[in-house]
Amino acid sequence: MENVRTRFAPSPTGYMHIGNLRTCLYEYLIARVNDGTFVLRIEDTDQERYVEGAMDAVFNTLALTGIGFDEGPGKEGAYGPYIQSQRRNLYKEYAVKLVESGHAYYCFCTKERLDSLKTGDSQLGTSFNYDRHCRNLSKEEIEANLKAGVPYVIRQKMPVDGTTTFSDLVYGDITVENKTLDDQVLLKSDGLPTYNFANVVDDHLMKITHVVRGNEYLSSTPKYNKLYEAFGWEIPTYIHLPPIMKDAHQKLSKRNGDASFLDLVDKGYLVEAILNYIALLGWSPGGSEEFFTLAELEKAFTLDGLSKSPAIFDIEKLKWMNGEYIRRMSPKAFLEAAKPWLTEGLGEELAADEAVLTKIAGLVQPRTVILSDIPERISFFGNLPDYDTVLFCHKKMKTDEENSLVALKELLRFFQNYKGVWASNDLYGEICGLAGTIEMKNSQLLWPLRTALSGRDVSPGGATELAEILGQTETIRRIEIGIDMLGG
Ligand code: GLU
Repeated sequence: MENVRTRFAPSPTGYMHIGNLRTCLYEYLIARVNDGTFVLRIEDTDQERYVEGAMDAVFNTLALTGIGFDEGPGKEGAYGPYIQSQRRNLYKEYAVKLVESGHAYYCFCTKERLDSLKTGDSQLGTSFNYDRHCRNLSKEEIEANLKAGVPYVIRQKMPVDGTTTFSDLVYGDITVENKTLDDQVLLKSDGLPTYNFANVVDDHLMKITHVVRGNEYLSSTPKYNKLYEAFGWEIPTYIHLPPIMKDAHQKLSKRNGDASFLDLVDKGYLVEAILNYIALLGWSPGGSEEFFTLAELEKAFTLDGLSKSPAIFDIEKLKWMNGEYIRRMSPKAFLEAAKPWLTEGLGEELAADEAVLTKIAGLVQPRTVILSDIPERISFFGNLPDYDTVLFCHKKMKTDEENSLVALKELLRFFQNYKGVWASNDLYGEICGLAGTIEMKNSQLLWPLRTALSGRDVSPGGATELAEILGQTETIRRIEIGIDMLGG
């Protein structure tokens, strides 16, 4: 393939939508599988929508995911600057060129006039097309207006007859009636380009070969093609992606309160799992393998795996995948990723004990789906919660309050005199021995012990694993509390 160049062109809104990240990922992967170049371009010409610090969400997301750009802000290549507001002066020249070649015109209509044209249907989603009032102004009129400093915009002069056909890699050939195409604004009265104009000029100047974006831009694409044709520029390959849905009817969106990429990370999803899952929302690898690291995707990604049916963002599937990723991590990597969550659950002091932390991480790793589950599950290590004595009663374990009290008293004596190795396996063996001696079942000692140590009906780890982590003194203290609660 020719020298492939792709770009991710976010408008900084302070929020990296899942759909944006998917676009970004695909652009990146198309560049990587073709040994091409991936460009980051910030589209910030819409100053009204400008949000301070909004670019951070883009940079943070890219840094976290490992999606590295080859050219972009802070990584200048031959086609910079890569922030559109820093390119503000170059678009006018191109717009004026189009006026000169008869593909665009000056429009001096006031806001009031334009507003009066709108029938209020915009509320209903009907698009408003300009009535082309200024399309045929005389040369003298235009010059007089320009001389007098009358504010103007530059509009694209669309053909009114015939049709325009364009090709999209995902959607195939699409034909539209030219008369439906709006004489859209290219250059605004503040001299800045509209998105519609700037993206064409920049994609050309930056030698972009593949344009990936959401299918909400499909209807504008014939207008872009008219611009490419007017300039005599080569049209890039278009890859419009179907929306990501939250269910059969609604798109995933910030407005609906759906999580952004960084929200998911904050909720304890692993970056690798999110990225893997997002890669599969609209792309199919062809085989049955679903697990791909970014490095694997860089080799496996194919354009013909792209699908035009909307993908449903299934949080349950993401959770499952996240759990699988957690299971596949080395204990060391898991400890590293889970540390903030472990610390939140245990408190700074307990979490400072590396040995304790490692043991608890080992207990929770096989059972964790998302990292944010961790703190609540392990908080009992730091603080024994208030609990009800019914927790001691367990049919299958053959325990009730009465025999639990007997068990805890036996265990108290045993632990007070215990001089052996304080490790789960040794303790387990000893307790089973004790059960034999006093003619109780193992479970009749282990269940009350686990309950007294955790104050919970479920806990990561069994009785002696908890005892090992809590240490002899704390184990004895918690057994005494249990005895007390059972009225002993
Ligand atoms: N700035 C546009 C957006 O954020 C980019 C669309 C495109 O990729 O052309 O939606």
